[in-house]
Amino acid sequence: MCGVFGIYGHSEAAKLAYLGLHALQHRGQESAGIVSSDGRQLKLFRDMGHVIDVFPESQLEELKGVHAIGHVRYSTSGGSALRNAQPIAIEYSKGTLAVAHNGNLTNADALRKRLEDAGSIFQTSSDTEVIVHLIAKSKQQRVVDRIADALGQVEGAYSLLCLTEDSLIAVRDPLGIRPLCLGKLRGTEVPVLASEPTSFELIDADFVRDVAPGEMLIVSPEGTTSLFPFAPVARRTCIFEFVYFARPDSVLDGVSVYEARKNLGRSLAREHGVDADVVIPVPDSGVPATIGYAQESGIPFEMGLVRSHYVGRTFIEPKQSIRHFGVRLKLSPVGETLRGKRVVVVDDSIVRGTTSRKIVKMLRDAGAKEVHMRIASPPTEWPCYYGVDTPTRSELIAATHTVEEINQYITSDTLAYLTLDSLKHSVLAARESHLRRENGASAFPLPDPASSKRHLTVAQSLTETSFCHACWSGDYPVKFQPQERKEQLPLLHV
Ligand code: AMP
Repeated sequence: MCGVFGIYGHSEAAKLAYLGLHALQHRGQESAGIVSSDGRQLKLFRDMGHVIDVFPESQLEELKGVHAIGHVRYSTSGGSALRNAQPIAIEYSKGTLAVAHNGNLTNADALRKRLEDAGSIFQTSSDTEVIVHLIAKSKQQRVVDRIADALGQVEGAYSLLCLTEDSLIAVRDPLGIRPLCLGKLRGTEVPVLASEPTSFELIDADFVRDVAPGEMLIVSPEGTTSLFPFAPVARRTCIFEFVYFARPDSVLDGVSVYEARKNLGRSLAREHGVDADVVIPVPDSGVPATIGYAQESGIPFEMGLVRSHYVGRTFIEPKQSIRHFGVRLKLSPVGETLRGKRVVVVDDSIVRGTTSRKIVKMLRDAGAKEVHMRIASPPTEWPCYYGVDTPTRSELIAATHTVEEINQYITSDTLAYLTLDSLKHSVLAARESHLRRENGASAFPLPDPASSKRHLTVAQSLTETSFCHACWSGDYPVKFQPQERKEQLPLLHV
């Protein structure tokens, strides 16, 4: 997972990019980078760590310019290293170009081999560099055509920002897997682009609209143009964004993430109600679903776990080991809420099962009489190849265990997951109510009337079939060659 941000035509472009990235920090904490342009030259700085640590003020002063793109990274493809930090910037025969990418390409290995066989020398192990080489090698003349040519050859997920000396180009893949939003600095015509509108809120920008699947937005001295250079396909927007990844104050593709999550909790309460004294979230990701669960069931919402927000990557553990050390650094039980109580605990997902097991133990140690685990999504059985960091299939507990076996492993009294149908309906219900509030089509004004009709058709087509839910169903929208999959395991019916 990653976050991207772009701004065009502002004297403090790099500083606004810095703030925009800070509001996307939840999408990646490993490295951060900004490329600026003064109209003639690109300047790049990137480093490992959080936005606030990577960019002291002196560093931002160096990034002079009026246009900028930035990136926060959560390593999925390519491993964790400074050389894989983004944006990637190159000089090639037509000038300079920087690229910031959210998503994962599924045919990157095959393309990379082809490019290397033809003499390309790669600097990084990240799939994004494949796009850069394809752009540099393209036979097209205009940079926009080179980008379209390159992207026409890649498969998988990309929400992409490209910066040249004097233009900013934003592209969302035809499946619309990862989000990408267009905004405008309030009271100006300065366009801003971001993975989520959380960036706009911080820099006083207004949300204009989502970039549509397959759309390419070109911002240049001539203004903003919208193109659809790829063959249209049915959209498959990642539904996990609504469950876990996006920030709850975001509205993506017309869906309020907060409302979608509350709906998940409501559905869980309807489908898997249980007699209990309190319902508590696993903070922070489980909070909105727990509010929904509490509202629907009438069971009081309480904080039974408190989260520390100051956990770094590595902690030194004393030699004499401390029980549940890892999880205790992050979460701590509230005895008053738990002692002698029948507790429902709501989380968004179980991946390996280790966190849930430790949480259940922690709740029991704090005096909970019963612990009922409720998960606001279906069992995670399949790895993601489109940009969410998931382990290999054999490490996903639901790939090899039934729900009852997982219940025994995590030692809860009962365990229940949401069905995929309920999940889709919860998200679509949130979209319906948002559209009603925003008065339908007027939520999507376009700078370019020529592509308005196409945009509306594509952007508003979120239906039951327009989600990618491969992590639960194994139904991957981009098919793989067997060697391209992280691991081949037969489908297990539990
Ligand atoms: P696990 O111990 O592997 O079962 O981890 C489950 C926890 O990880 C849940 O509390 C989720 O909120 C969280 N989680 C789910 N997906 C991801 C992800 N892709 N990256 C980081 N955390 C995740």
